[in-house]
Amino acid sequence: MQEQDNQKPVIDNDTVNTDPSVATETANLDKAEPAVVTQEAPAETVAIDKAPEPVVEAVAAEPEIERESMEFDVIIVGGGPAGLSAAIRLRQLAIAAGNDEFMVCVVEKGSEFGAHTLSGAVIEPRALNELIPNWKEKGAPLNVPATEDRFYYLNSATRSTKVPDSLIPGPMHNNGNYIVSLGNVVRWLAVQAEELEVMMFPGFPADDILYNDDGSVRGVLTGDMGVASNGEAKPSFEPGYELLAKYTIFAEEPWSFR
Ligand SMILES: Cc1cc2nc3c(=O)[nH]c(=O)nc-3n(C[C@H](O)[C@H](O)[C@H](O)COP(=O)(O)OP(=O)(O)OC[C@H]3O[C@@H](n4cnc5c(N)ncnc54)[C@H](O)[C@@H]3O)c2cc1C
Repeated sequence: MQEQDNQKPVIDNDTVNTDPSVATETANLDKAEPAVVTQEAPAETVAIDKAPEPVVEAVAAEPEIERESMEFDVIIVGGGPAGLSAAIRLRQLAIAAGNDEFMVCVVEKGSEFGAHTLSGAVIEPRALNELIPNWKEKGAPLNVPATEDRFYYLNSATRSTKVPDSLIPGPMHNNGNYIVSLGNVVRWLAVQAEELEVMMFPGFPADDILYNDDGSVRGVLTGDMGVASNGEAKPSFEPGYELLAKYTIFAEEPWSFR
């Protein structure tokens, strides 16, 4: 037996198999590999090199949160101008078809409808004319018509030149448009939706998308309430709801569910 050098493997001639039949068999099994000479390492070395057994700690399974679920025909995520208009239109169509039971729900993460809407805007009322033709009688907050457009070319920090109207493309003219608070328009649309018995859930952010086994969208999960910044449940904890529907319309900001 030779004395072992820790860095290099030691070949003990006694353990090398010199039987030619074994050598041939090895060569046939894997022609590309050179013949392998095996050697048992001393027991002491094995003990030192052995990786320590991983310590497996028992992890307590997280308790399943019991969630209430509600079913609708359509869920609309986001109560901005688009979501509320869709809800109003769907209910108008359902009522016209004699299907008053057709349930539409809007979840809005803002504490109230309009709370998250950037306000100052000039709007063209064509879509509103189609959606609610008698919006004037119904008190829509479109009270300030745009009467004049002025376009200026800024030559420098102190000088500008007025661009003649005839050079301004048609879509940039605001004739017939209204200067509004879009937040107020959204609040008013929410009232119109409520009158049509849309189920309105302000203060309920959709937190996650729920899927069926076949990958189709089943609805959304609203956010849990009463969760501390470290993720732990506070005494006020209230689990989010599973809102399920045949159709889910995403009318929130496009980056919400990336
Ligand atoms: C600076 C600026 C100026 C503008 N000026 C004009 C203008 O002068 N005239 C004009 O016509 N348009 C203007 N626009 C565009 C106009 O604001 C938008 O076209 C319009 O708001 C789009 O409506 P929306 O319903 O699609 O989306 P949004 O208005 O963005 O509404 C989306 C709603 O979804 C909610 N939401 C988001 N995520 C969730 C969630 N996970 N769960 C529940 N709810 C959620 C939000 O709180 C929000 O209320 C302007 C936009 C900007 C940014």
